[in-house]
Amino acid sequence: MTGHIAEEEEGGSSAAATVESPQRAQEEEHTEQQYVPEIPIEAQRANFGLLCAAHNPEGQCVNPAVIPCQICQLVAYCTEECMRKDAERHSGECPPPTEPPSRSEPTSEIPDDPVQDEGFFWANYAATDVLNLAANEGIEFDGFLRILLSGTFGLRHLIYSIVAMPETACPYLEVAISELEVPHLYRTFLSLLILRKGEEINMDPYEVADLVTHVWYSFKWPHHVVAFFKNHLAADFEPFTGGRESHVSLGIDPIIKFLYPSDTLALCVGFSLLAWRAMKIFLDDTINQKPMNLESMNQESTNQESILRDREKDVEAYGEPLENAFARMSPSRVAGLVKWRQTGLMLAYGDSGLPHAQLNPMFYCSRPESFTCEPLSEWPMNEILDYTPYAAEADVYGKMVAYVREMLVKFQLRLKRRGIFVKLTNAGTVKLSGHLTKCFDREQKFDRIEAGHLFDTNAPLCFLTFSPLLRHHEENPFATLLIMTRGTFTRSDNPRTREIIADEKVKLFQPVSQSLDSIAPPVQTTDNKYSAACVHRHFALQVFDREWDMFSDRWLADPNYFNYEVMQTEDTKRGIFQTGWLGLQFKRKNTVKPRWQNRLMPRTGKILTEEDASNLRRWMSWSTTRPERWLEWKKVKDISWDMWSEYCDYLPIIGTRDYTVMELENMYGFLARETEFLDIEEEYENCACGSKKRRNKCEHEHKQEPATSTEQEPAMTNEEEAESDGWMQMDSAEDSAAGGANGKSKQKKKKKKKQKKKAGKK
Ligand SMILES: [Zn+2]
Ligand SMILES: [Zn+2]
Ligand SMILES: [Zn+2]
Ligand SMILES: [Zn+2]
Repeated sequence: MTGHIAEEEEGGSSAAATVESPQRAQEEEHTEQQYVPEIPIEAQRANFGLLCAAHNPEGQCVNPAVIPCQICQLVAYCTEECMRKDAERHSGECPPPTEPPSRSEPTSEIPDDPVQDEGFFWANYAATDVLNLAANEGIEFDGFLRILLSGTFGLRHLIYSIVAMPETACPYLEVAISELEVPHLYRTFLSLLILRKGEEINMDPYEVADLVTHVWYSFKWPHHVVAFFKNHLAADFEPFTGGRESHVSLGIDPIIKFLYPSDTLALCVGFSLLAWRAMKIFLDDTINQKPMNLESMNQESTNQESILRDREKDVEAYGEPLENAFARMSPSRVAGLVKWRQTGLMLAYGDSGLPHAQLNPMFYCSRPESFTCEPLSEWPMNEILDYTPYAAEADVYGKMVAYVREMLVKFQLRLKRRGIFVKLTNAGTVKLSGHLTKCFDREQKFDRIEAGHLFDTNAPLCFLTFSPLLRHHEENPFATLLIMTRGTFTRSDNPRTREIIADEKVKLFQPVSQSLDSIAPPVQTTDNKYSAACVHRHFALQVFDREWDMFSDRWLADPNYFNYEVMQTEDTKRGIFQTGWLGLQFKRKNTVKPRWQNRLMPRTGKILTEEDASNLRRWMSWSTTRPERWLEWKKVKDISWDMWSEYCDYLPIIGTRDYTVMELENMYGFLARETEFLDIEEEYENCACGSKKRRNKCEHEHKQEPATSTEQEPAMTNEEEAESDGWMQMDSAEDSAAGGANGKSKQKKKKKKKQKKKAGKK
């Protein structure tokens, strides 16, 4: 099966070919050679740990911290002596306040959720293993897999999945990452460039990890970070800043692309024109930032002070009120939150921060909203809270830095064994399959798709977007569309759901059960006003009392809510979780993710234990809290143009009213890809380097291509090439002559022809 997939890919992806072939050549050598053993993480452990919080006149003490402050647990010291020396300074922040500075008036309006998680800049569910090779392709799998990560900050899933891979597995991964929002696109792109360059110049993986965490989370950058960009990455920015040629594909939605070759982390970017220009601004500012004069960005003139005021405004608009934070967290935990909100520095609490040279453009170039919310939700709660050894038990942000750096080091070590190919683009939802086609390959079928939160915001669109991209289960029985959902239940207008939520609110003020009431007693109030005092109770009700099984199969099977099939079959009795939709079939049993990854359940029925109570406190301290349900789908039949166009008529209902069918056809590249490519082919043709070149000239350098590699991908034979040119031109002529309505039958013809060709190859 493995061989079969890899074989099929060879014909399709020209951009992948040159990067893959060194990979494969290397792989063949490696069959006899033992892989280099990893540097044991334990040996580097000191690097991930915490530094002594004592501040001398010369700066912060650099010894490892082992003795925590017993009162706040936020800082730790190397020795009793350092602790004594720092006592006066630390007394200013220890103990942290136990009360919010001011109490706002209680509101009578009870929110649906006790913890605010609307308007969240960061990815608001944890990085997760999307591969789970042990339960699927196997722990010794070394074949080819394609992954598509389409949610916010998908790169963290890639890093997490690769680190979670069994030692014995060694797959070749080709990963497409789609980031819709520019700040996330930027942090992903910049960190990929750093990881790639770090390997190229043989940098210590820990130093690389340090740079990447600053890019992801630090509002201000220390000198060494800025120096790295100037000295090592400036040349990589040139495709954007003008020094090197990048390739343009034309059409109604022009795309610019560029390939960064590497044996370890090859990267191909394909951005829309707008995103490309935005990225140019971000990258320019990464190197040549002038914080006092940002007119170049078309903003009112601004300076660091106004940027800091923006942080305050953002906290006011999107930050959870402090009294709420105090109601659900320990005072130390709140102190950490307040420090993060103010400084925007992802550092250990006791760290003074390095001398800062420059601001991180992610936080001001496009002024993302709600960027002062806690970024903790991007990684698994238990893994951060249990991160050891870490002397300052209450310092969550410090633990997160250490955790993320260790994750990044392991990731790099893993890539040394076998490289990956990452394709980064910025298309979201309806345009995704068309963009992937235009940016990278004509054939885009993925073995895993992580769908982000699209299902929660627009479920039909989620299926329309990902159905054409999932690999058929006959090609890979483990190919899975992974949908994380948690918003659909609470946001649903289902009368039964509204009833449950309303009932929950009443229970805030009334006894429910002895065990629940002992953990979070009912709030004693007669006028049902909602205040910080309600938060704990509200949260406990949601976790332990809510009928989450409504949210599970019983509710998902409700044809009133998931019944897109009705348009085709007029079968009003069964929803799509029973019938499947657009060639996708719901898997009754999850094989990749646990069904509920983070649901907090009482140990035995409704009797809540001490352990439950402590779990509840741990959960409450986190920024996102609702249980996540993972839905898994497999592809059981390919969708045809006819079937797809039928749903086109239905699309206006699901929120794409603005698009004409022709525009959609263009965006849905899986159906229109042959015509999509016509305008590109006119001006560009494939170059041996794997990218497109302008007809009759190849202008770019090929220095990255290893001279020793004789195992180049076999180029198309003359016969094949002639055939392909032939039918493409023919169809092009027909299309322009016939236009509109006849297009459909032509699409079908082309498809048939293509299938025939494929069959012939096999
Ligand atoms: Zn203290
Ligand atoms: Zn010390
Ligand atoms: Zn640093
Ligand atoms: Zn070339």
